[in-house]
Amino acid sequence: ATPTALLAATGRGAQLGILVSGPQALERLRRIDTLVLDKTGTLTTGRMSVIAMTTCAGATGASGTTVASGTTGAAGAPATTGAPGLTADETLRLAAAVEHGSEHPLARAITAYGDLRREAVAEHRPPPTARHFVATAGYGVTGEVDGRSVTVGRPGELSALPAPLADAVRTAEAAGHTAVLVTVDGTPQAVFSIGDTLRPDCYRAVDHLRRLGLRPVLATGDRTATARAVAGHLGITEIHAGALPEEKAALVTTLKEHGGRVAVVGDGVNDAAALARADLGIALGSGTDAAIGAADVTVLREDLQAVPDAVRLARRTLGTIR
Ligand code: ADP
Ligand code: MG
Repeated sequence: ATPTALLAATGRGAQLGILVSGPQALERLRRIDTLVLDKTGTLTTGRMSVIAMTTCAGATGASGTTVASGTTGAAGAPATTGAPGLTADETLRLAAAVEHGSEHPLARAITAYGDLRREAVAEHRPPPTARHFVATAGYGVTGEVDGRSVTVGRPGELSALPAPLADAVRTAEAAGHTAVLVTVDGTPQAVFSIGDTLRPDCYRAVDHLRRLGLRPVLATGDRTATARAVAGHLGITEIHAGALPEEKAALVTTLKEHGGRVAVVGDGVNDAAALARADLGIALGSGTDAAIGAADVTVLREDLQAVPDAVRLARRTLGTIR
């Protein structure tokens, strides 16, 4: 392709909401045959909300209590007892304080739910602030709130949880939701079931990618049951769940070693290493700076269809050479 053709393609890309870093990126885009797709924030909107919060009375085996969050607000929901001295609202208050420091979509869901409950119970104290905040990509967050050590994140081994909380995790994941566990001073206190919706355009986009001959692979930090529920809707059979950021990058390496020409589509801090490792990194413009910085292509359109559009554009522009 001539420089003029490349320039024209870059311009056409911009019109389509696709920002390409340079001619080499267009060339690699043309050749990709495997597409690793992140789940949260890429196949889904990333706009998550708390569907339910389940607490229990710790190891005493009391039955779990679910506080459902309706769209009209959970004003009628009772503040149920968690561990002695810690109500569901108190647990929520601690969790929201820690999540305040995170930009993860799950964190936004929890802080929004915290605000909703504060309003519902006419809580006038300002939300507490967390000290010693630490976010671990792919795991969750920890911090110290009101002198208590609070962890919010991935549930881990279900056998280590009281039955009501383990059940809440299973129920959430079977529905394709993400289960998030709150632990206070080492004791599991509550499980949030957090729901997200598939992007409306993702069916068409994934189908289009397949018709372009690309092999879709789902890679997510979320757990297997949740990943399966989502992949099932899209007919994606290759799933890598529970993948930490470095495992997503390792998956890219393996696919490349098997001869794949691999593109990664992602939005999160947890995708940055995989985006950089790929033959071509595609970041969503709605994503984090880390993802955009690591990518060769940025999709500015709020539409996953931009990905097959970009591949087609590259193939059309450069199709004449070799
Ligand atoms: P994905 O790969 O689907 O984008 P992530 O790698 O961002 O998912 O997250 C993987 C898992 O890590 C989540 O399902 C959740 O259990 C946990 N996690 C990560 N960040 C947070 C957070 N801020 N709050 C709670 N849980 C988190
Ligand atoms: Mg993501």
